Amino acid sequence: MEKTTFYFGLSALLLTLTQVNVSSAAELPQLNQLPAPFAIAIHGGAGTIQKSKFTPEKEAAYRAKLSQAVETGYKVLHNGGSSLDAVTAAINVLENSPFFNAGKGAVYTYDETHEMDASIMFGKSRQAGAVAGVKHIENPINLARLVMDESVHVMLSGEGAEQFAKTQGVELVDNKLFDTEHRYKSLLKSKQRMQKAKSKNKDYRAAHDSLEVEYKVGTVGAVALDSQGNIAAGTSTGGMTNKRFGRIGDSPVIGAGTFADNSSCAVSATGHGEYFIRYNVAADICARVQYQGKTIEQAGQEVIHDVLMPVGGTGGVIIIDKQGNISMPFNTQGMYRGKKSSNTPTYVAIFADE
Ligand code: ASP
Repeated sequence: MEKTTFYFGLSALLLTLTQVNVSSAAELPQLNQLPAPFAIAIHGGAGTIQKSKFTPEKEAAYRAKLSQAVETGYKVLHNGGSSLDAVTAAINVLENSPFFNAGKGAVYTYDETHEMDASIMFGKSRQAGAVAGVKHIENPINLARLVMDESVHVMLSGEGAEQFAKTQGVELVDNKLFDTEHRYKSLLKSKQRMQKAKSKNKDYRAAHDSLEVEYKVGTVGAVALDSQGNIAAGTSTGGMTNKRFGRIGDSPVIGAGTFADNSSCAVSATGHGEYFIRYNVAADICARVQYQGKTIEQAGQEVIHDVLMPVGGTGGVIIIDKQGNISMPFNTQGMYRGKKSSNTPTYVAIFADE
């Protein structure tokens, strides 16, 4: 090929490429004008939640608290804050309320104390932080966040987690701060039932299995998408009523109770933790989205209804993706839940049929 022909050909090609770039660049400002979506979803536990057990006043109070959590997280996103900050802010509202099994209102262990678990994960980097079995931390989700941001570890437990808290200037509080009368009654009832089951010659495991679901569930969590396009998930819990032997549930286990990855979805779970750990629920949902091209709706339905339900795993999840789609499947009678996005209004629900 003649040198000149080659150069001519090359410059023609470059010119064409430049023109393509110029014309698509001319369209870009229009695309950029579309506001980036942002959204949040929260849950306050799934379980045997029957309408007949609510007075109108009690129902209104629960709905108001769920709504407050949604609005608090949404406001962070609306002001340009990160999904991690929105998740933390929404969960703090629920932890500080005695209605839910996290922070104030956490269930009692067999030894009549409170042991709390929490975790948080950021979808952009897959960084995560978790605490398990902490007794003196007012807002366990905040400590999980500090583990993620300020330590070289992912999960800290018990006294070690609390020593770390002190190094971060977190005040340790009296375990009695988490006491509530209704949770104490629930512990006594659960012990009575276990005693009855034992006297029928059932072993500890069978006696525990015989407990109704309401003693085993009731956690809080949030998932969010921020206007920078990053998703996050967080979960906080008092665990299971009457738990013994330092039992840890799924909530602080990354992949089981909490998971977030920008390339698939963010999930926070609530339910019978042992099943959620064994079936790696949160990560399984996101794996179906990432590797099988499923929507979050399909993936959530499959894991909650087709995988967990047949083996007796009760509970639910909240899921969000990078487009701001939200799905909230559960296989129990109800799940305290709520959501709001930059293009949909606040929605709060408790029972299955709403
Ligand atoms: N998943 C929690 C646990 O097993 C309980 C719950 O969600 O209510 O510790």
